[in-house]
Amino acid sequence: MPLADFRSPRLFTDAELAAGRRVELDRNQSNYLGNVLRLSAGDNVLVFNGRDGEWRAAVSGRKRPDRLEIVNQTRPQDSLRDLVYAFAPLKHARLDYMVQKAVEMGASTLQPVLTRLTQVSRVNGERMRANVVEAAEQCGILSIAKVGEPVSLDSWLTRRDGQRLLVFCDEAVDLADPVAALQAEAQSQGIDVLVGPEGGFAEEERSLLLRQPRTLRLSLGPRILRADTAGVAALALVQAVLGDWGGRTGHE
Ligand code: SAM
Repeated sequence: MPLADFRSPRLFTDAELAAGRRVELDRNQSNYLGNVLRLSAGDNVLVFNGRDGEWRAAVSGRKRPDRLEIVNQTRPQDSLRDLVYAFAPLKHARLDYMVQKAVEMGASTLQPVLTRLTQVSRVNGERMRANVVEAAEQCGILSIAKVGEPVSLDSWLTRRDGQRLLVFCDEAVDLADPVAALQAEAQSQGIDVLVGPEGGFAEEERSLLLRQPRTLRLSLGPRILRADTAGVAALALVQAVLGDWGGRTGHE
């Protein structure tokens, strides 16, 4: 697989990408290329749209970058494993951090789940999407993770496919080797990783979760991790054992 070029600036666009195409830049993109990255006519950037792979493009525009000339493809489009990161939303800055980390870890969907002890009731979906794109731009990721609308734990559990593996990160579970626990899991069509709020899961939520089919109650070690740390730890374990870090295939 061609390695990502991390030296060239990267820009996400919604436009179709193909050799010889011209892509008009909107005000934000023009400002980002011109004033933030200090690029001007003739400079190169890498563009991607989450569908057509990655392309090298030449900046053009007299006073400021106003469009891109698409030159050649540098990487074909790839796809992410079916890995949903379900989490009790956190306050602003920590939510931004968590979204960016979940994208870096290869989550294909970010699903805010409102639990009884969740501290925030409103989630800014646009801001989450902007963080998803920014993380993809910075990390050379070509697929854009989906952002789900916030949903209550009950509704999420009612709607989700019971064939999927539910990795329930539970701070109250007895200490057990998480790698061995994940390795013992049979193949499944997709994985949901659930992390609770700073206040943890309420007892009735815990018993509801444990009644779900295909639930793995996962320990993340002897210490109580903050929710955003728990998210990164859980995604790392799942990707290493069952995911695209060379883990066991079959959990597509
Ligand atoms: N308030 C809870 C407490 O004091 O027991 C701690 C909640 S913790 C800050 C936030 C979430 O991270 C938990 O709901 C759980 O999903 C996850 N988490 C944190 N530490 C964990 C651990 N050692 N094992 C499993 N999950 C953990």
